[in-house]
Amino acid sequence: MRPAILNPLFAGAAGLKGIGQKLGKTLANFLRPAEAAGEAHIVDLLFHLPSGLVDRRFRPRIADLPREGIVTVEVTVGRHRPPPPHNKRVPYRVEVFDDSGRLTLVFFHAFADHLHRSLPEGEPRFISGSIDWYGGEPQIAHPDHIVSPEEFAALPLIEPIYPLTEGLSGKLLARAIRQALDRLPALPEWQDEAFRQRHGWPDFATALRSLHHPETPAALGPDAPARRRLAYDELLANQLALSLVRAHMKRAAGRSHRGTGELRAKIVAALPYSLTGAQRSAIDEILRDMAAATRMLRLLQGDVGSGKTVVALLALATAIESGAQGAFMVPTEILARQHFANLSPLCAAAGISLALLTGREKGKSRDEALARLASGGVSLLIGTHALFQEGVEFRDLGLVVIDEQHRFGVHQRLALQAKAGSAADLLVMTATPIPRTLALTVYGDMDVSKLTEKPAGRLPIDTRVLPLARLDEVVEGLGRSLAQGHRAYWVCPLVAESEAVDLAAAEDRCKALAARFPGKVGLVHGRLKGAEKDRAMADFKTGAISLLVSTTVIEVGVDVPEANVMVIENAERFGLAQLHQLRGRVGRGAEKSVCLLLYQEPLGETARARLHIMRDTEDGFRIAEEDLRLRGAGELLGTRQSGLPLFRMADLSADGDLLVAARDDAGLILARDPRLATPRGEALRTLLYLFERDEVVRLISSG
Ligand code: ADP
Ligand code: MG
Repeated sequence: MRPAILNPLFAGAAGLKGIGQKLGKTLANFLRPAEAAGEAHIVDLLFHLPSGLVDRRFRPRIADLPREGIVTVEVTVGRHRPPPPHNKRVPYRVEVFDDSGRLTLVFFHAFADHLHRSLPEGEPRFISGSIDWYGGEPQIAHPDHIVSPEEFAALPLIEPIYPLTEGLSGKLLARAIRQALDRLPALPEWQDEAFRQRHGWPDFATALRSLHHPETPAALGPDAPARRRLAYDELLANQLALSLVRAHMKRAAGRSHRGTGELRAKIVAALPYSLTGAQRSAIDEILRDMAAATRMLRLLQGDVGSGKTVVALLALATAIESGAQGAFMVPTEILARQHFANLSPLCAAAGISLALLTGREKGKSRDEALARLASGGVSLLIGTHALFQEGVEFRDLGLVVIDEQHRFGVHQRLALQAKAGSAADLLVMTATPIPRTLALTVYGDMDVSKLTEKPAGRLPIDTRVLPLARLDEVVEGLGRSLAQGHRAYWVCPLVAESEAVDLAAAEDRCKALAARFPGKVGLVHGRLKGAEKDRAMADFKTGAISLLVSTTVIEVGVDVPEANVMVIENAERFGLAQLHQLRGRVGRGAEKSVCLLLYQEPLGETARARLHIMRDTEDGFRIAEEDLRLRGAGELLGTRQSGLPLFRMADLSADGDLLVAARDDAGLILARDPRLATPRGEALRTLLYLFERDEVVRLISSG
């Protein structure tokens, strides 16, 4: 149960003054992290920190007004000069003065009544806004604030600026945040007191208040104690959650899966290649974990094309040899079917019975598969997250493999882990080459194996960066390639926010290419019906079509070794990790591959630098580090695609040191107080709830 002291913070934002149902929805979409849907709470407003500020402290006399900038002046209101009737282009002007000179306030499309009320002639007023000069005269168009001397006392001279979204004005948001701050309770301190004092950090509530009411510009800077404190809180919640899950998993009695090696040997004998050294050592590490009596919690990290699938299969075979069952979960339908198709012959060779379960298996065939699963007639189940839905019962699940884990997100993984039964070993695989600091926040609870070497004989991919203006040449070259019997991908980007618009673009491109290469072109995208998707993929795999136009649905895991051309349109719009994944779809066969990155001109400096990194290296880790450097962690984490947790207050490019400290802190805390039962432990539970790690707290309570 969430501590009662937090209740005010988890009340709906929609109850606040000025926030109705509609705005409540806008806030929910805008403020809630992508993976944690639901209504916006007071705490979401509090965690929405300003991105900058307006400094209104400069208060010159009119005679000393600067050429430009924000000023606050104390004046007496003079004459109103409304525009002539029916002439909307002439603004409404109000003259104001002090004893040094005169200033004009300018309003377009003004309401005279309103202006007479806010600027009564002869009255003193404080005006704050951006200064302009017009024909040698100073003026302020649409002042930000017009207040009486009494109201001026309450006007914040340093005003935070918040990131906004359509339908949400700065004033409304600021007002809502002010109300939210009024409800902020004093919370128990969860940080180590000595640590906090050494850093000179304020308490949690003071930190939030000072960020929302900055008193100096430095109060919002990256080094501001208040900001660092909150960043640390967020990172500590993250690290503590991961450590708790790990401790919980390790505490639950695992099972020793030793296997006999018999099925494994048959699979290896059926492979058309021999395993790389990296694959062999990863398998050794995994088998050692599986043989141990504690549960395995291991991450297999390996760049695209490094051959993770077969490593997973050998681990699964080991569980099956030990008399248990295996589950192989992937993020997309296409990938589930592909794995099923690719693994079928190997499983047949070893005599492993295999079944497929996705959202599309329905009715009788689904019921049959489920019955065979429950009776133990199926040893290996491949599928999407449908694997862990209601009604799917394994007779004896020994190992769960989660492929392309970066598509699922940490929260989802933790939830799956909780569901995957209390004794099953867990192997998660990812190709997302994320920098070390980020890895810690996502996989901090796991042991890691890496595939550092690619299968032999892979040729480097020739990557070129070209403007879209050279599209004709590109299509010419593509024509030559197809004529030689090669196969090619053509990826259209997510350009607009709207899927419909993007889809239209992909369809148009497909039509144009189909006109040029009749009978050779197919299209896949996320909106296609399952069977249509399968058909397009199958046609491409068999070579019935040789050019596959797609939106980014092919990004994950698709394996067609004959494809050796990859064209990516508007490549500047993609994240580097995504480009790297896409490029990894080619270069898998014996033929030399080409990747063409087409960009829309003009190309900004950062965008150019990013595309050049792609051209210059195929090393996923280098690409990720460079991307982090060029764009900052916020951007890397901000992409929904990545499935990484979205930190709201920590900025990993600035707070990497805090992440390391938080990891150590979490380790110490759990060593001393594994059930969070001490007073500090209690406070830490509050922290976990504050950052919505409710499930994790439940784990400690359940034992
Ligand atoms: P990923 O790590 O991206 O999931 P896959 O498991 O899909 O990579 O493997 C990519 C391709 O490499 C597949 O066609 C697979 O059959 C092949 N492959 C895997 N291991 C080897 C190996 N040791 N030697 C040659 N080819 C391999
Ligand atoms: Mg894969």
